[in-house]
Amino acid sequence: MEILTNYIDGQQASPLGGAYIDVFEPATGQVYAQAPRSQADDVEAAYQAARRAFPAWSQMPAAQRSDIMLRVAALIDNHLDELAAAESRDNGKPVGLARRMDIPRGAANFSYYATAALHIHDEAFGLPGQALSYTTHKPLGVVGCISPWNLPLYLFTWKIAPALAAGCTVVAKPSEITPYTAWRLGQLCAEAGLPPGVLNIVHGLGPEVGQAIVEHPGIKAISFTGGSATGRVLAQTAAPMLKKLSLELGGKNPALVFADADFHAAVEGVVRSSFTNQGQICLCSSRLYIERPIYDQFRDALVAQVDALKVGDPNDLSSNLGAVVSQAHFDKILSYIQLAQHEGANVLCGGQALQIPGRCANGWFVAPTLLEGLPIGCRTNQEEIFGPVVSLQPFDNEEEALALANGVDYGLSATVWTDNLRRAHRMAQALEAGLVWVNTWLLRDLRTPFGGMKQSGIGREGGTEAIRFFTEPKTICISE
Ligand code: NAP
Repeated sequence: MEILTNYIDGQQASPLGGAYIDVFEPATGQVYAQAPRSQADDVEAAYQAARRAFPAWSQMPAAQRSDIMLRVAALIDNHLDELAAAESRDNGKPVGLARRMDIPRGAANFSYYATAALHIHDEAFGLPGQALSYTTHKPLGVVGCISPWNLPLYLFTWKIAPALAAGCTVVAKPSEITPYTAWRLGQLCAEAGLPPGVLNIVHGLGPEVGQAIVEHPGIKAISFTGGSATGRVLAQTAAPMLKKLSLELGGKNPALVFADADFHAAVEGVVRSSFTNQGQICLCSSRLYIERPIYDQFRDALVAQVDALKVGDPNDLSSNLGAVVSQAHFDKILSYIQLAQHEGANVLCGGQALQIPGRCANGWFVAPTLLEGLPIGCRTNQEEIFGPVVSLQPFDNEEEALALANGVDYGLSATVWTDNLRRAHRMAQALEAGLVWVNTWLLRDLRTPFGGMKQSGIGREGGTEAIRFFTEPKTICISE
């Protein structure tokens, strides 16, 4: 069994307390590794290493920082097959998806921000005859990055890369449920020549390691992705400390399908937006609103396509869905399907756990599930399930579609399927979501701001927003 280590001051480090957590393979339900169950003293060691590394890293010429980060990106790329297999084993996602999406995106996060580091610049403001003011953008210092289990390397690097590009040093915690590729990232960073202490990775439980990072008085800012309830706990700790926070939280995202949409493109798009990664992407659609004239036809086409999805061994390249991430999450998803039935849902397809014969017989598999007949106000339509469970409802006009789409506390993303350009603009403007896709889904341009409205978060990441988050402007005014 593999024993993972922390990565502190450029070294593989065992947890000071000597405790470990079992790491499961969701497809088999078996323990395959152990990860450190670190505590506040490990976080302190990581912080001290990051503090020592900060002066040299923040003052290193941007081109040199950029070169090191590009080497990390290249190493991730060079290990594509190995990292994809590891991500799939750790998370339960189909290996093909990890190969197409997770690992390339981990490399892209590093290469994108490696080049962004070259474009951080100061600004000057002249007041002729009086003064010249100029504004510099200073890296904050040591920062904390905390990420969830659904896109492990993808989201971990999405936070770490901009922090490093900005000149900060980092204490980072991946989810203890999926620690493996974060562990490998530490090794690849060492191989790329990242100076010791610039990135420190501390494994462990959220309320222990995560909390210790958020509470640490020397850690200047926290970039967090996870659930809205956890985000509130973090804010309670960080707000009285006046600590800068970026919170990327949960979603309950609508997809609106109008009768004028390209029917086949919309069906395929909705299947993908609902069930990719077993529905465990914060941007997945979980509420489908379909214009009444095409409701029956669309629903039937959807059921046919969803029934044809293959749920199976994540190692099998023909599997469309793999296992959900843990026993606890499996239980939670099934309990929501039961709740939906109590709330009056008609189960159109799925609705139960699946047993996959062979090596995956004890894995955590859930059939992709379509529900109809639920009102907007019920818990199934209001709460984030974060699994392969989607609720369908017809609408009669744009006003009703908007009221349904906006009728939840979340506001992360929304998708609109229509061939009417004016309608696309009207909907996009009125939807309460940080990101609206029209006739596509999950097309991400790393230059664009990313984040949620309402209970889906505070702040924006991506592009220059993330660099702005990890830096602090300082204005200097010089009299002429
Ligand atoms: P989570 O339970 O909130 O955990 C997220 C991270 O926070 C994990 O590393 C977790 O550690 C840690 N944590 C837990 N309690 C903490 C505390 N008191 N202090 C500091 N850190 C703490 O979320 P999850 O279940 O891993 O992920 C699913 C959620 O993430 C969903 O709600 C999903 O929508 C959201 N998400 C949002 C986005 C976005 O961009 N908006 C992207 C992806 C996912 P442990 O793993 O040890 O608990």
